[in-house]
Amino acid sequence: MKLIVKAGRIIDGTGSPPAVGAAALIEDGRIAAVSDVGAFGEEPDAEVIDVPGGTALPGFVEVHSHVHCSASSSAFDDLAGDSRETLVARSVEAVRAALQSGVTTMRDLGSRNEVVFPIRDAIEAGIVPGPRLLAAGTPITTTGGHCHMFGTEADTLDEVVSAVRRQVKLGADWIKVMATGGRFTPRTNPRMPQYPVETLQAAVEDAERLGVRVAAHCHAAAGVRNCAAAGVHNLIHATWMSEDPEGGYDYDPAVADEIAEKGLYVDPTIAATGALREMRSPGWLQSTLGGGFDLERRYEILRDMWDRGVKLVTGLDSGMDYLRFDDYAWVPTLMVEKLGLSPMEAIVSGTRTSAECLGVLDETGTLEPGKRADVVIVEGDAAADIRTLHRVDTVVKAGRVVRRGGAAAV
Ligand SMILES: [Zn+2]
Repeated sequence: MKLIVKAGRIIDGTGSPPAVGAAALIEDGRIAAVSDVGAFGEEPDAEVIDVPGGTALPGFVEVHSHVHCSASSSAFDDLAGDSRETLVARSVEAVRAALQSGVTTMRDLGSRNEVVFPIRDAIEAGIVPGPRLLAAGTPITTTGGHCHMFGTEADTLDEVVSAVRRQVKLGADWIKVMATGGRFTPRTNPRMPQYPVETLQAAVEDAERLGVRVAAHCHAAAGVRNCAAAGVHNLIHATWMSEDPEGGYDYDPAVADEIAEKGLYVDPTIAATGALREMRSPGWLQSTLGGGFDLERRYEILRDMWDRGVKLVTGLDSGMDYLRFDDYAWVPTLMVEKLGLSPMEAIVSGTRTSAECLGVLDETGTLEPGKRADVVIVEGDAAADIRTLHRVDTVVKAGRVVRRGGAAAV
């Protein structure tokens, strides 16, 4: 089974400039070659997809989803009240929507084990259409801590290490730890850490021993500092919230340098703690995060982290209130429009860098021979206008066409 994908230009995700007049040859689910359009003239048995005004890109990598959450304004109550069967049904729809938006690889960073592991396996088996899913399963949190409703409660260092082992035993591809409180969960404190450095460090060491990596939710500046010191592979949010309830941020550039030096990845969930929620629910930030939280300062901090060499990855936090599963394109859009990255920088962050963070760069994340054929074609020139990522014409996942001409093909 051969497929040739042609578009006005190809961005291969490696950071090389767009190739005009190039095409990708796909064989048996993998990229066989990326070359001049003319090079594939003698492939009479190949199916051809040609979008002359479009841009072909690697499939998008969304590193932060909660597939069983409802993405509505009542996401918290829905999660608390829904039956397991309803959560499974929600998840099926969620992964389908994500795939149709161009996401071909996704990480779930906290859903009930009994829901997300079967969904992941059903996608892999071809029962349900969706992105390749890496699942953390239930997040590890303190008693009554952030997301305890679907988490594993563990307080002491020994309990946390034991929880890591249990999650791996049950099938987790990643470990999610709640390093601080979160605003989604009542009676927790987002401005304070939930675990000391030693506990986070023990979790990282044991996860590494078992061949998995750790992502940690951190809003409080003290939590960001703890995660950096512990070498947590992927910091989530990194909001730098000050301990003072009326205070804004407590940003520490020296810690940003430490994050960059250690090669840790940061998923700033820029749409979640930013413009997208504010757009859908004006006043959201002030009412949920409280005093001193102004977005312009947040963007300045993230820009400074980027300038210091921190590797940013593209997580949406999809499933949480106002963050829909087909919203991925907002993440690179806001990186360009609010942080001042170039469209190419945002695209590389959302493809190669995010795949590297997830540990799947040898399989996907760039359009290079030998890799899985995960390809998206958007309408227009993506290197000139990041908003083209909202107009997805074609999606190919592992060589299979799942969207074509702007309509679902599965
Ligand atoms: Zn989340």
